[in-house]
Amino acid sequence: MSDAGKPVLPGGVIGILGGGQLGRMLSQAAARLGYRVQIYEPQANSPAGEISCKEVNAPYEDIASLTAFAGECDVVTYEFENVPAAPLKAIGHLTQLYPDWRVLETAQNRSREKNWLKAGGFAHARFAEVPAGGDIAAGVREVGIPCVVKTADFGYDGKGQVKVLHGGDLEKAQKAFPAQACVIEQWVDFSVEISVVVARSAGGEMRVFPPSENIHANHILDLSIVPARVPDTVLRKAEKTAREIAEKIGLVGVMGVELFVTKAGDVLVNELAPRTHNSGHYTIDACVTSQFEQQVRAICGLPLGDVGLISPVVMVNILGDAWGCGATGQNPIAPDWARLLAEPAVRLHLYGKTEPRPGRKMGHFTVMAESVEAALKRARRLQGETLSDVRRC
Ligand code: AMP
Repeated sequence: MSDAGKPVLPGGVIGILGGGQLGRMLSQAAARLGYRVQIYEPQANSPAGEISCKEVNAPYEDIASLTAFAGECDVVTYEFENVPAAPLKAIGHLTQLYPDWRVLETAQNRSREKNWLKAGGFAHARFAEVPAGGDIAAGVREVGIPCVVKTADFGYDGKGQVKVLHGGDLEKAQKAFPAQACVIEQWVDFSVEISVVVARSAGGEMRVFPPSENIHANHILDLSIVPARVPDTVLRKAEKTAREIAEKIGLVGVMGVELFVTKAGDVLVNELAPRTHNSGHYTIDACVTSQFEQQVRAICGLPLGDVGLISPVVMVNILGDAWGCGATGQNPIAPDWARLLAEPAVRLHLYGKTEPRPGRKMGHFTVMAESVEAALKRARRLQGETLSDVRRC
């Protein structure tokens, strides 16, 4: 039975739904505080499963397996936002489950998320909804060109998105999503993208990590730069927005809030992720408390940690694209880790994934320096020297 609100002290068992890199880093943070971690993940030998006490491999819809799993845990959380909400609702009374399944249900569907933002008065891009098989052209007319058509469900890293600049793109979107519910968003001519990781405990205590400035390549996060190079007024607006969202949605845990900063300095909410966020990985090396430890603290009812920034930092994502091909054209050649590891004030994080597919997040590194400009210059140089110069298969 759920012991709602009761602190789970070190030594307790934390269950994580999802076995990806976010679960892996969460498991590492939990283990450092003396917790035991169990992973529930459909695929065997997951990045999180291989370093945790136990990995259960079963579908998320398998209520019997989920129930047994929940019964072994003092608190359960998730690291992956496409865990279906319905099974979580079914086990919600068996254990403490944070964030609540309703938060996940809102954030995992773009229509629900946008309507929630609208109802809450949070600034966002203009949008229209198109039901499965509905009239995408009518939605595009309503929002206006340029816009972007996104599937309502299961989109991430630019997957399930078609940007519409002219009639040809519209046909492409219609072909791509003939039978999926979509959200059509006005294309925001932003000056910069930033994101904020906010933590909230069951008692309502909140902490906001320093916002990060994010640069994407092919719709996937490439670099996160902290402190973000935006005016203080923008930082304050971003932090205020994140706090208000966390409060209003009843967050217990951590949440990534992605924001567009317009040329006029307005802050529009792009997306909510009720979990740790790729752009918050810098916190592991450059903050007093990492976003992962903060998640542990928030879901276990412990005091939240100091979010102070220790050093200017730039995080660089390492994708599978950085692997080259051997002479046979068969065996992938890993980037020059020794080159990265030899650098002072650089930390390398690899997620233990064996197959380096293009676009797959394999790891990241952080570069710390006396100024954000110096960190960025070194990060770009190291990125070029270690990740870009590969022989393609
Ligand atoms: P998303 O999966 O919605 O976070 O989109 C991935 C990336 O695509 C964002 O981080 C932006 O760089 C870009 N993007 C998505 N939606 C918009 C939009 N409405 N206007 C401008 N850029 C967008």
